[in-house]
Amino acid sequence: MNKIDQRWVWVFLGIFTILVRVILGNFPQIIEQYYSRGIYIGIRTIIDYTIALSPIPLIYLLIFGILCFILFRIFRKKNKQQRIKQRLTNFIFSLVAFLFGIVFLFLTLWGFNYARVPIENQIGIEPNPLSKEELFQELEISTTELINAFAKVKDYDYKVYEEFVFKNSIEDKIRIETIKTFKELGYPTPGRIRARYLYPKGTLLRISTAGFYLPLTGECHVDPGLHPLQIPFVLAHEFSHGYGIGDEGSCNFIGYLTCKNSSNPVIRYSGLLSYWRSVASQYRRFDPDHYKEFRSTIPQGIIDHLREINAQMDKYPDLFPAVRDATYHAYLQTQGIEEGLKNYSRVILLVNAYRKKVELEEG
Ligand SMILES: [Zn+2]
Repeated sequence: MNKIDQRWVWVFLGIFTILVRVILGNFPQIIEQYYSRGIYIGIRTIIDYTIALSPIPLIYLLIFGILCFILFRIFRKKNKQQRIKQRLTNFIFSLVAFLFGIVFLFLTLWGFNYARVPIENQIGIEPNPLSKEELFQELEISTTELINAFAKVKDYDYKVYEEFVFKNSIEDKIRIETIKTFKELGYPTPGRIRARYLYPKGTLLRISTAGFYLPLTGECHVDPGLHPLQIPFVLAHEFSHGYGIGDEGSCNFIGYLTCKNSSNPVIRYSGLLSYWRSVASQYRRFDPDHYKEFRSTIPQGIIDHLREINAQMDKYPDLFPAVRDATYHAYLQTQGIEEGLKNYSRVILLVNAYRKKVELEEG
């Protein structure tokens, strides 16, 4: 009797999970209650207290495993009787099964979080599009915050920042700070997520990414080629993904709050600097001349940091900018995020709405 081809199992699981995702996409409350605050807590706990205890980043082991598997398939004894056409069909079927398998694992291990209740509903804020004047106000407020934070770090040089992010237990520090923010916003923080530097430097930056969360291993990754002043914020952003937030703008928002509320001056400055860069780049699009004029009023030390960051980014230029934009845009759209890449500026609306809420509460 022929045994059932295992590959069908992956195809079935993939299709089934996609269907469930499409249907449940209309019921964020159900995803929130049973997946994000239910199943996902179990997944987190299991991953973090088993495989993630590995001293080696799991992604390296995963890549090694996949390479071994491919080599094994290439060199194993071939069935000589199969014709080229049969072999090709076989190969394509394997590939399709593999892709469905990835989709199944991606969604069940994390991806359903994309369809949970949006953060604005969770914390009761109303993000609305900003007028040019409101955006400028946001720029002024974020500049004041940035200048205050800069005052605490102005005597540090590059070496201090570098040691801070590479020689200290920055991973634990930022995890603790992120957990605090999640608790304040009313979210659970199960497990103990790992965040790893992904070497060689620049690997991610060359595909215009600073970091990412990999559901297959349950670990966060950050590119160590970033300027050290960017790293604390990027870590907080990635941890937010790890704790079950899919949306990019929401992770930037949580990263901003986490850094801003930190008692550590470098972490604080890192987050405020990153947020400032988002607001400034938006405003520059609206009114480049006025932006230039405004920028000239900012302390030279901050301008130097902005230049250093740009210079650091230039070290790792994009390999395929057009391909990257198109694929990532498509990726976000398949996750039900209509705005695609524009989603990144959502952080400004969230921060703005949150500040209004806090001001109201404080009277
Ligand atoms: Zn992200």
